[in-house]
Amino acid sequence: MPEADIALLERVVQDFRLRLTPEMQAAAQSSDGVAAQFVPSAEELVTRPEDLRDPIGDDAHSPVRGLTHRYPDRVILHVTKTCEVYCRFCFRRETVGETGHLPQDDLTAALDYISATPSIWEVVLTGGDPLVLSPRRLGEIMARLAAIPHVGIVRFHTRVPVVAPQRITPDLLNALKTRLVPWMVIHTNHADELTTAARAALSRLADAGVPLLSQSVLLRGINDRAEVLEALFRALIGLRVKPYYLHHCDMARGAGHFRTTIAEGQAIMAALRGRLSGTCLPTYVLDLPGGHGKVPIGPDYLAPQGDGTWQVTDWRGTVHLYHDPI
Ligand SMILES: *Cc1c(COP(=O)(O)O)cnc(C)c1O
Ligand code: SF4
Repeated sequence: MPEADIALLERVVQDFRLRLTPEMQAAAQSSDGVAAQFVPSAEELVTRPEDLRDPIGDDAHSPVRGLTHRYPDRVILHVTKTCEVYCRFCFRRETVGETGHLPQDDLTAALDYISATPSIWEVVLTGGDPLVLSPRRLGEIMARLAAIPHVGIVRFHTRVPVVAPQRITPDLLNALKTRLVPWMVIHTNHADELTTAARAALSRLADAGVPLLSQSVLLRGINDRAEVLEALFRALIGLRVKPYYLHHCDMARGAGHFRTTIAEGQAIMAALRGRLSGTCLPTYVLDLPGGHGKVPIGPDYLAPQGDGTWQVTDWRGTVHLYHDPI
């Protein structure tokens, strides 16, 4: 590599951390779709006018440090800022990797807030990646949450089972056993990430009775073709993972080269509908800048014509009229 290029990449990794697991290093060698997610590029030095430091408004609804309470019935708790890998398009790239785990005082304050807020039914553990914590620490957090009567569900948002599958150990599975059902939403963007070891880790979770969902980010040049997402979603369903969300790529700084337009995303989703089982299809969502939450963004199959009449487009693109009962 020419020295000028190396100097540029050094600037990139000063700004945004670099980290890859051995598992993903191996996968990146044989797959451009994996490599482009983790290997830094000089394009990250380009800041576009629309780029934001806090793209989804995590800070807009943060009553205590480490906790975001945007919707009445659920909160996200950032138990750590560390990840096993640093994705080049990360929506929290300004904060991940900083100082490790949420300090004990902040964690206690967050748990006290949950305890004092009866409308909270679900606690989403996120980060960073919550599964970089030791089973012992996770067990403590699960036990504290299980002791709060109004908390009914704990959800993990994690990339660990795919990128660091050796972390899914019997100790971890034991630590998750409380009265609360732990749901897991697995972040994965390309079928080539699903290595033999990753598949085995997902099977261990499913065998242990952990319900599995997935979330993927729509990424230009990586998975912005119907065939690529089709392969991913089919593989996930075969692994007992239900595709949950396809995220429109957020406005993170230096990640503009990964963003598609919404119209491109809608066209891909429309191409998948009908050609792929409904069980395999996630909801395409936009996390609105400013902290206003996630919104399903189509494609639209319905157009109101007035007087209870609707134009409805089927999976082949043919338009039909539908009349509401009078
Ligand atoms: C994404 C998110 C959630 C979870 O949203 P769901 O639509 O229930 O998956 C909850 N709180 C915040 C702040 C979020 O960003
Ligand atoms: S695993 Fe998630 S939080 Fe961590 S770098 Fe990737 S996108 Fe960001």
